[in-house]
Amino acid sequence: MAQPPTSPLFAPNQDAEPQPARQPGWGLDSLPRDGGAYALVMDLDRRLALPIGRQQVHSLAPGRYLYAGSAYGPGGIRARVARHARRDKSLRWHVDHLTVAVGVSWVVALPGGRECDIVATLIRDASIGQPIPGFGASDCRRCRAHLLALPKTFDAARLRAQLSQAFNL
Ligand SMILES: [Zn+2]
Repeated sequence: MAQPPTSPLFAPNQDAEPQPARQPGWGLDSLPRDGGAYALVMDLDRRLALPIGRQQVHSLAPGRYLYAGSAYGPGGIRARVARHARRDKSLRWHVDHLTVAVGVSWVVALPGGRECDIVATLIRDASIGQPIPGFGASDCRRCRAHLLALPKTFDAARLRAQLSQAFNL
């Protein structure tokens, strides 16, 4: 079976810094229903404590973070990102602590992609960190974490440029 074409999709549009997901009317409908990987960018305006792991409380400093995930179930990337964008939900995954606290600022979808490839690509950039070992990656043998700390200046254009190179777009 043919793989769907892999292309980055920035919601809600390709050019501007996308609108915050927490605003009504944010372009979830523009996300593909295909299975694939996605990256959520979240802007934390305060220090946030995260009860992750047994008897461990980590905290994140204010800043810009990227979470790489994948969704191959029903509804694909669109359904999964819609859940991430909701603020009222039970806390199931590590990243839920962040999305409940601050919402999602913008999203990149990579139909047919794998979240570990997003992580592997971005951590080549020495200015990108992995502040909490194991975050979102309890079952992953490849990545130290699926949550990355981005530099303040890291914008949609830079993310698109780095992923475009790696995913040969
Ligand atoms: Zn991984």
